Amino acid sequence: MSSLARVTPGEFCAVDADPRRRHHDPEFDPPRSPGPGPPHLLPQDYQRLVGNPFLAVLGLILWSGALRLALHARNLRFTLLLFACLAGIAFLLQYHCLDCGATGWLFRWRVHACDQVLARRRTGRILRFRGPVPTIQALLWCYLLLVAAILAWIALPPSYWEL
Ligand SMILES: [Zn+2]
Repeated sequence: MSSLARVTPGEFCAVDADPRRRHHDPEFDPPRSPGPGPPHLLPQDYQRLVGNPFLAVLGLILWSGALRLALHARNLRFTLLLFACLAGIAFLLQYHCLDCGATGWLFRWRVHACDQVLARRRTGRILRFRGPVPTIQALLWCYLLLVAAILAWIALPPSYWEL
């Protein structure tokens, strides 16, 4: 009998399954990981941005007031024009950069990379405390304003809300 007959099938699998024992073949094996590089490459980890929904909320308040007047006057053209302009209120959502003071459209906050952000990214200096991302900040502000509006609606007399 040969020595191969004494080896059980489980032993063959154990040898083949452990990649650390095998020699790495660059032609057939997948490339190894390059090792520990910079921990974060996303610019979001180095930004200091604040979400600002207040201009959009003001636009929405003015829009609803104009809609109320258009419906009260039974002006169909003005009502349709107002509904056509409703999507434009989303362009009033903004972010502000605490480093360079830039203001931009909220839905493009991920691409903001001023000199300070790039310097932090280059050195790998991640901010120790990071709040929520600007879109979540804006959403939280909207919830807070909604709660304040509901409380004002409850607290103020009904005659206050009439035209
Ligand atoms: Zn900036």
